[in-house]
Amino acid sequence: MSRAGSSSALYETAPVPALDQAPSGASLPQPAGDCAESIRVRGLVQGVGFRPTVWRLAREYGLRGWVGNDGAGVTALLCGAAADISALIDALQRAPPPLARIDAIERLPTEVPADCEGFHIIESIADAVHTGVAPDAATCPDCLAEIFEPAARRYRYPFANCTHCGPRLSIIEAIPYDRSTTTMRAFGMCAACAAEYRDPADRRFHAQPIACAECGPRVWLEPAQPNADVIDAARVLLLAGGIVAVKALGGFHLACDATDAAAVARLRKAKRRDAKPFALMARDVEVVRRYAVVTDADAAALCSVAAPIVVLETRAFEKTINTPALPGTAPGLTSLGFMLPATPLHHLLLRDIDRPLVMTSGNLADEPQCIDNDEAVARLHDIADHFLLHDRDIARRVDDSVVRVMGGAVRVLRRARGYAPAPLALPRGFEAAPPLLAMGGELKSTFALLRDGEAVLSHHMGDLENAPSFLDYRRSIEQYRALFAHIPSAIAMDRHPDYLSTKHGRDLAAQVGLPVIEVQHHHAHLAACLAENGVKLDTGPVLGIVLDGLGWGDDGTIWGGEFLHGDYLGFHRLACLKPVAMPGGAQAIREPWRNTYAQIVAALGWRGFVATYGDTDLARYLASKPIAVLDGMIARSVNAPLTSSCGRLFDAVAAAAGLCRDRALYEGQAAMFLEAAADTEAANDDRSAYPFAITKAPSGPLLHLDPAPMWAALLDDIAAGTPLPLIAGRFHGGLAIGLSRMVAALRVTGRVALSGGVFQNRLLLEQVMRRLTAQGLEVLTHRLVPANDGGLALGQAAIAAAGMLAGAPPG
Ligand SMILES: [Zn+2]
Ligand SMILES: [Zn+2]
Ligand SMILES: [Zn+2]
Repeated sequence: MSRAGSSSALYETAPVPALDQAPSGASLPQPAGDCAESIRVRGLVQGVGFRPTVWRLAREYGLRGWVGNDGAGVTALLCGAAADISALIDALQRAPPPLARIDAIERLPTEVPADCEGFHIIESIADAVHTGVAPDAATCPDCLAEIFEPAARRYRYPFANCTHCGPRLSIIEAIPYDRSTTTMRAFGMCAACAAEYRDPADRRFHAQPIACAECGPRVWLEPAQPNADVIDAARVLLLAGGIVAVKALGGFHLACDATDAAAVARLRKAKRRDAKPFALMARDVEVVRRYAVVTDADAAALCSVAAPIVVLETRAFEKTINTPALPGTAPGLTSLGFMLPATPLHHLLLRDIDRPLVMTSGNLADEPQCIDNDEAVARLHDIADHFLLHDRDIARRVDDSVVRVMGGAVRVLRRARGYAPAPLALPRGFEAAPPLLAMGGELKSTFALLRDGEAVLSHHMGDLENAPSFLDYRRSIEQYRALFAHIPSAIAMDRHPDYLSTKHGRDLAAQVGLPVIEVQHHHAHLAACLAENGVKLDTGPVLGIVLDGLGWGDDGTIWGGEFLHGDYLGFHRLACLKPVAMPGGAQAIREPWRNTYAQIVAALGWRGFVATYGDTDLARYLASKPIAVLDGMIARSVNAPLTSSCGRLFDAVAAAAGLCRDRALYEGQAAMFLEAAADTEAANDDRSAYPFAITKAPSGPLLHLDPAPMWAALLDDIAAGTPLPLIAGRFHGGLAIGLSRMVAALRVTGRVALSGGVFQNRLLLEQVMRRLTAQGLEVLTHRLVPANDGGLALGQAAIAAAGMLAGAPPG
């Protein structure tokens, strides 16, 4: 997310004249000290220290007037020399407060009031306050310097923060954003903190979580240790192989020394997390560089105020430096997820640790992470040896965000701490959209509130089939609606009748008699990509390539490899991956070999396969499975739904190549392994890429991208003993070529939007982007919003709003 913000068109047309030049403009020249302008700033400008910044600049430039918050952002009256007013706005634009995002600055010349003396910060204009919930932000450089400065008042204080950093979403319980409506209300300010809080010149002016060792939250270890300093004690325990549960900003982490293979294995076993990669935390970028490739873009993401987990490549690194990896932290992958400390507590803990720590979510298996002290001790006591606790309550569970730099841009894969709930501006045409609630999907759940031409996309809440996650989801919807004073006029949801989000949306709608708007899954993906790229409401249809796991299709089959031509109002399905049975239904997601079997049967027939490839290890493996049962399912269409899913094709290819054949231990594991295994040069070699055919569907105008010839080439390679990296690379290259050839066959020009969870695959995304760009197309991709189902709610909201603005009856 751009923190510097974008300038308004209004402002760009009014350049600041040099002080010794005659200024230009309609109302100019003006004698010094005789001007007034009414200023309106829109964007993320509340609760981020915006008013004191304007106050400080006004004093610097000798301006009079006032600044205050209202329902639309920040508003100010500036009186003084025209050049000084322009200089103030220029300074604000160049260096806004670190957590602010300026979307627009509007300037209106006005009369100089008779009583304009001094410069004042006025209280919020309360009747219209409905914004101001900012994301949590990593410790700023000033606070960081303070906690390591022995003479400073907050030396080694784990909860130092200011208006430029610290907790926000994770502590807010109600609006307006004020100390009394946060979990900091339990702590009365000491005189020194109160003085800072009241002083506009102090960077803690109105910093609601302001605290010090005298008056604020405190930290302790359970069981208690003899060391005087509990954070030192926790460090000693970690370096001795201990597992410590650490209460962080939005929930508990489980920490151990990432270089200690025994500790990592013990944590993995106790957490019952068989294979999923563990997040890592290091003191600084220099430590990270010893284990992974850190590009400039990666480093910028690591050091950003959101301080997300950044997925970093390790393969090229291992080739050149051959440093020992971190055993057991990311089994089977060639990437590591690293983050830097985001709170003073973590900075203090990590400062003297010259190696990475595992910093994985504090939970058992796939449950949501703990946020409460008692709950953590009760649920994690079999996993953690020690608990580093504190007494500032967490108002809501906010996971660590995950990003990856792909195709030259930082892309959010999981949007939570540091990003949510910053509103996303909707494109032009949505200004008058009615307030809406969009329920999102089933996996990687988020929901969205649409209002005032913006969408507030919630933080990530995980998979709703998990009962505590579903409870969290329902609670969070109520909390967000209260925080944003949101009263929806309709509820949008996925068309899948069994999604828990859909069922809950229907319940909510029934309770208050609201209309429901069902949205097709892949249309929502496409619309999310259009909305995040600012594609205007009245723009004509765009081609979307939407590749994901599974989504409810309009024809009663399961979709997931789609070429949709559409806009916010509707779509046509022009082409898809050729549908193949998914024998066993949901079991085929957990057991990738089932997809291999179904694909091979569809492409060659079992007899044809055995005749040519019967001597392979793959044929022997498949023959050992209950394939007669599968044949029965497929023949009778019982428990073997047809799907065009690209995710299942990845599963099938991975299992054929020997990856995760029997079982995938987490969603997407086989596809992630296949990407990790792929040789990039092989993916770039068009001559050896596996071919896909373009065929016509048996009925109707639909085109199929048919993997049958790909299977023949892949099986030839398997029979010839071709190394896995070449097979995986040739599949990625072949699929990218197949997708771009389909775009050409559809005679699409202009723009192509890429969405769906499969596009979290860096190799595939970069291949497809490169090839489509070479075909003269403009490629739209996700950056701020996840390409996976975490972005669905945004698309649902945009589609529902477009329909209502067009006057279509909901439903
Ligand atoms: Zn700070
Ligand atoms: Zn204090
Ligand atoms: Zn999806």
